Amino acid sequence: MPQPLRARAPRPTKILSKRYERTSATDRGYDHVWRKVSAEHRRRHPFCVWCDQNGQLTFAKLADHKYPVSDGGPMFDPENRWSLCLTHHGVKREMEEFARRTEQLDRLPIWCDDQAERPRQFR
Ligand SMILES: [Zn+2]
Repeated sequence: MPQPLRARAPRPTKILSKRYERTSATDRGYDHVWRKVSAEHRRRHPFCVWCDQNGQLTFAKLADHKYPVSDGGPMFDPENRWSLCLTHHGVKREMEEFARRTEQLDRLPIWCDDQAERPRQFR
């Protein structure tokens, strides 16, 4: 049974930050299937790849998409994911922003796999 539409709340006058405007993880396709795939990926690859490239072993907190799903990257391609710690996930997001700004999204998977190929500020 369809629910009646709620009256629209007036638009907030305060500008919300981007973070609040984002849709939920579930809305973006990160459902239970992804959670299972992500957990399995981290079982097989428990350490942060980026830390490992820096000669450190740190447990990964998440499986990240090298080419972001929000930019059209494949959700479930095993080649499109790598394990990251929270720190490097943050740096990766900055690297994504940089790639969008400079129209180099296609370079992201290369930058993920080969640290030497990355722009200097993200090594
Ligand atoms: Zn790391």
